[in-house]
Amino acid sequence: MDGFLQIRSATKMYRTPEGGSIRALDDVTLHIRSNELISLLGPSGCGKTTLLKCIAGFEDLDHGDITLTGQSLTRIPAHRRPFNTVFQNYALFPHLTVERNVAYGLDVAHVERKERTRRVGEALEQVGLAGFGARMPNQLSGGQQQRVAVARSLVLKPKVLLLDEPLSALDRKMRESMQIELKSLQHSVGITFIFVTHDQEEALSMSDRVAVLASGKVQQLASPKEIYDEPQNEFVANFVGTSNIFKGKVIAKEGRTLTLKTANGRELAVASDRFGVGDDACAVLRPEHLKLSGEARDRAIKGTVTQSVFVGSEMHLHVDVGLGRTAVVRHRHNKGSTEAAYGPGADVTLYYTPEAAHVIECK
Ligand code: ATP
Repeated sequence: MDGFLQIRSATKMYRTPEGGSIRALDDVTLHIRSNELISLLGPSGCGKTTLLKCIAGFEDLDHGDITLTGQSLTRIPAHRRPFNTVFQNYALFPHLTVERNVAYGLDVAHVERKERTRRVGEALEQVGLAGFGARMPNQLSGGQQQRVAVARSLVLKPKVLLLDEPLSALDRKMRESMQIELKSLQHSVGITFIFVTHDQEEALSMSDRVAVLASGKVQQLASPKEIYDEPQNEFVANFVGTSNIFKGKVIAKEGRTLTLKTANGRELAVASDRFGVGDDACAVLRPEHLKLSGEARDRAIKGTVTQSVFVGSEMHLHVDVGLGRTAVVRHRHNKGSTEAAYGPGADVTLYYTPEAAHVIECK
């Protein structure tokens, strides 16, 4: 195992003004690899920023430790850790040019002029801003300001770049292009990026691995594909993407195919090695795995459309399938097609293959 940056049993408590305490991190263990882009993903208040601050050294842990290539960071103050942080609000000096902003950390470290000029030029080149050195921050777009903030960190050649929701102030299009840029920048500079976000699409599209956090705990650490296709629990299945989750009890098993009986008596066929007759289980079916027309090997569920939402490239149909929760189905429509509109009240049959369902434990 790559023992680059190891966080072991990290616990962090905060006192509240009301006299209580909050466990912002609760026994977090994460092993971060060198040269990976890892996202810390979770809802507001789950502890993402606290974890980043503890790694950076802006906050101390109450329990547990953090080591970098085997060396404990506990007694190393933030400014002596080989890390750099890019903040959400860029934190550029408004009265300094781009070049002076990027050079700032090198000035503080008394790096000599020639070397400083070379490194500033290299960092601006890396973020695609060669030729922008003389501009003031207010003469740049939000995306360009963010790139200056990244250059200012990269110029110090950190071993790890910590990014706290760095794209959240940008509009959607700029955000998407910066996601691609940051990913390719990470690849070309070859250092570890730890990226905090609450946006699951951002985490899935950029990361080598994603750590999903909730209530100060790691819910799952895996590749984006694994997080999406094989969520470990109900929280991850709901937080990452849209899930149709159906609870039931396994009443029969034949090979890998289980029959799951739901509370209202419907039976679903799902495939899994992990569960046996008598177990409670939840079937997770992503909207794209429910189809409006099926093949011979597919199973069918009948239902009625309660709502259909047009999102441009497709329709999202909400279907009451008599399983306690509406199922969400994606339906691609062809321009000019005369096919049925699937409006509210339409009776539909949904098809799925048992293998497409992912089965998890129920709470
Ligand atoms: P967001 O996405 O909203 O920034 P987050 O996942 O980064 O959220 P944290 O900022 O790490 O969450 O906060 C985790 C918990 O700790 C929250 O309940 C928060 O209110 C609490 N908390 C954070 N900082 C402090 C502090 N200095 N004093 C008291 N409580 C704090």
